[in-house]
Amino acid sequence: MGIHHGHILRILRDEGAQSRAELSRRSKLSATTLTHVTAALLRDGSILEGETYGANGVGRPAQAVRLVPEARTVAGVHIGAGNVQVTITDLLARPKASAAFSFDTGSADPDEIVRQVSRTVIQLAEETQVDTKSMLGVGIGVPGPVDPARRMALASINVGWRNLALADKLEDALRLPAVVEHNVSAMALAESRYGIGKNVPALLYIYLRTGLGAGLMVDGAPFRPGGHGAVELGHIQIVADGAECACGNVGCLETFVCERALMEAAGLSGQAPDDLLARVERNRPAWGTVVRHLTTALASAVNILSPNLIVFGGHLGEAPQSLYEALAADLPPRIMPHMRDILMLERGTFGAQAGSIGGAAVALDQFFYSGALH
Ligand SMILES: [Zn+2]
Repeated sequence: MGIHHGHILRILRDEGAQSRAELSRRSKLSATTLTHVTAALLRDGSILEGETYGANGVGRPAQAVRLVPEARTVAGVHIGAGNVQVTITDLLARPKASAAFSFDTGSADPDEIVRQVSRTVIQLAEETQVDTKSMLGVGIGVPGPVDPARRMALASINVGWRNLALADKLEDALRLPAVVEHNVSAMALAESRYGIGKNVPALLYIYLRTGLGAGLMVDGAPFRPGGHGAVELGHIQIVADGAECACGNVGCLETFVCERALMEAAGLSGQAPDDLLARVERNRPAWGTVVRHLTTALASAVNILSPNLIVFGGHLGEAPQSLYEALAADLPPRIMPHMRDILMLERGTFGAQAGSIGGAAVALDQFFYSGALH
């Protein structure tokens, strides 16, 4: 595997165009190795070399090397509870085209979902005039933990899947390499590589849709304790004698802060969950419960995980500003003193496409910036 190629591609992604001298200094590669690596990348069109001028516009023009984001594409897939998003992106995870479809969680036949994902990728590729054979691969975000080699969804409780070899199935259907990741970890990865979390040492992403999930990036890598763990913030127990949770425990955060519980608490049952938290806010008792329990769980998460940044997605990303104000006021007294100055709270960068762009970010890491192509 072209480990040096991946290293050079990551520098160009993160730092922009560089002269060969700068690339050599940053990569610490010898001149001979760098020449060899850039020659291969120029040949396959991943990078371009052209003249650029110094920052002050004077002096001799220098040759700068830059990434060509349009050179290749990947597909990102987000599987949520009852809905699937698919996005084709370039090498900077910028969307070219997206589509979504829904499915019944009560009878979620994985083979049928894989066929539909496959058809959607092909259709989006046609629309954007991308040759599917030239795509680098597909990254799939799934609910719940994945296996260490990221080929399998281990336990997607809301969809009813266990030990499902999802990457193999999609590879068979689409004839493209595939990789599986926990869906909220994929969103955290996308924010860390391409969004608001660049250069942030520890980023915690919290996503609320049907359920409440979280993902943590530490020093540029997804946190995966034991090779399979996810950050199960939704299953922190808030009250010992609470309602039964889908995980088998009682009184978990998710029994209060999930779509169904929020709709019930705010008297919105049976309605579409659009603008959910703005509507819950109008019901003061329901809103007070959400803010209180979310603060309790976040305070525990911050004290255990010490994130520099918490990014909110899904309904939380669309929440009224008053939620952020409440958390900014209520969290600091409940976390370690040094964390009060460090912790930042932000809305996610990628809005409704966070999941599928997350999948694309996983595919880009696996099939391009790793140097796997070269
Ligand atoms: Zn639970």
